[in-house]
Amino acid sequence: MTGREELAARRAAEAERIRASLDRGHEGRKADLKVGETAVAFVKEDLCIGCDQCTIVCDDEAIDMVPTPLRSPVLEMESNRKAVIVRDACTGCGLCVLACPTDAILMIDR
Ligand code: SF4
Ligand code: SF4
Repeated sequence: MTGREELAARRAAEAERIRASLDRGHEGRKADLKVGETAVAFVKEDLCIGCDQCTIVCDDEAIDMVPTPLRSPVLEMESNRKAVIVRDACTGCGLCVLACPTDAILMIDR
């Protein structure tokens, strides 16, 4: 039977493997991103699920979450929230693109 210490060591090794894998993925995506003063983030509203991940990583208060009517025939919720970029505050860093789980954010020309 697997002991606690062995299990903890296996979990730690697996967490490290997953972290390294995610970091590699982000590095690849980051290399492809258009970032900097000439770029600004843009949210594809249809893909935004209102999860707030982008606002957590944005240090520039450049993302507002706004109430939006939910268009789901199966969920009985009156509203959802969608991310909206505050263009003047956005520094074009691209962090929100990497944080978004649904690929709802693009970097476009400013
Ligand atoms: S690109 Fe950077 S500054 Fe602009 S909204 Fe995303 S995280 Fe914020
Ligand atoms: S991380 Fe993506 S899905 Fe989540 S609120 Fe921001 S734009 Fe929407």
